[in-house]
Amino acid sequence: MQSFYVELLHGLDARRLVELREPTGNDQALFVDRGATPPVRCVSALIDSLVLRIGEHTPVPDELAQLTVGDRERLLLALCSRLLGAETDLVVTCPSCKNIVEVPIRFRDLVSAQPDTSDRRCVLAARDGSWAAEVTLPTGAVLERTLGLGQKSARRLLESCLTALFDAQGQAVAREALPEDCEAELAEKLLALDPLAECRIAVECPHCAASFETLLDGYALLKGAFGSSSALYGDVYRMARAYHWSEAEILALPLAKRAQYLAIAAATGEASG
Ligand SMILES: [Zn+2]
Repeated sequence: MQSFYVELLHGLDARRLVELREPTGNDQALFVDRGATPPVRCVSALIDSLVLRIGEHTPVPDELAQLTVGDRERLLLALCSRLLGAETDLVVTCPSCKNIVEVPIRFRDLVSAQPDTSDRRCVLAARDGSWAAEVTLPTGAVLERTLGLGQKSARRLLESCLTALFDAQGQAVAREALPEDCEAELAEKLLALDPLAECRIAVECPHCAASFETLLDGYALLKGAFGSSSALYGDVYRMARAYHWSEAEILALPLAKRAQYLAIAAATGEASG
């Protein structure tokens, strides 16, 4: 089986090197046929399916749900890079002049982002004085738990990242007591520890010279790379015609293998019509 390696920023228990297998049509189908499954769950299922080892060790069920949000994004970007090449263009709309702007991105530059700090303690400025907190990073498991909470999900996510909270008098308080005016500062702190959790790209508009930031969403990029349902099943149809394999056999092929077989069939005219 073909595999490749990705270095995580946090990993699990100091194990940071992940071995993944190449995605197949079945993995592609997870995304293109996702129906009402939330993207967070698609990403979790994809990671569970593709990760062969973390460090020397085969992950046990639920273990990969403990990867940080930034490490999940790192795995998605590594997959995008396998499928799209080392560089791709993001297409965004300039908020000032509304023109379409193509932003070239290099995956290697994105995943080289390092945390600004490794200190899990922070001071938060609240209206009544300085609060102190100790934090843990949001994980895939936390994202799944806060799904479907609507407007409350961001708040619940922040609360779940607090391992200790002290008010302006230095008293330990429940995490639910986090003042609302500390939320943005806490979110920035978490991002400084796990920068890929929200990948911001600085853009300068070539039409009007406005500077703005856009968010790079690994899920959306990978979904684009996996293509549409009609493209996937069009491939299955052409493969079945040319080679007489079953759908299950075709979907089990790594994507690069399928492309090779389709190129051979097209060159020999077997897949025409
Ligand atoms: Zn513009």
